[in-house]
Amino acid sequence: MTEVVYESGLPWDPERPDTLIITCVDGRWYHHFQEFAREHLKAGARTDFMTVPGGIEPLVLFDLVPKDFNFFRRRIEGLVEAHGTRRIVAIAHQDCAWYRRRTIGPLSVDLRDRQIADLRRAAARLRELLDGVVVETYFARLSGTNPETVVFEAV
Ligand SMILES: [Zn+2]
Repeated sequence: MTEVVYESGLPWDPERPDTLIITCVDGRWYHHFQEFAREHLKAGARTDFMTVPGGIEPLVLFDLVPKDFNFFRRRIEGLVEAHGTRRIVAIAHQDCAWYRRRTIGPLSVDLRDRQIADLRRAAARLRELLDGVVVETYFARLSGTNPETVVFEAV
């Protein structure tokens, strides 16, 4: 045995959460996603999280980058099978660096519109692939108020 360097103060709960949340990795938004899951989605204090830059974007790449799509698809299918996932929640966020980086063509193309279109396409694909799993999609953005807060829209 190697030396223990830290012991989590949280109790261990072996029960599997039934919700998988797919989001971007952006740490500025992450704790808001977790609060949203607890307070609004009522998904419990723990959910499975699948997090990559850009969130669900690989799921819309089945034509363009099939290996990214397949990497994502295989892992989601594996999770649903092993964990008994009943609900998948995909959340995109404003000012996503991944989407900004991938912007091709005029910058006037609204990233939000593109992200919402991707959420919907990805959700449709997941519903095709996964029988009996509920799929929900949300967009998180700043409220535009002072002080700034984070608000979520069902899209
Ligand atoms: Zn992002």
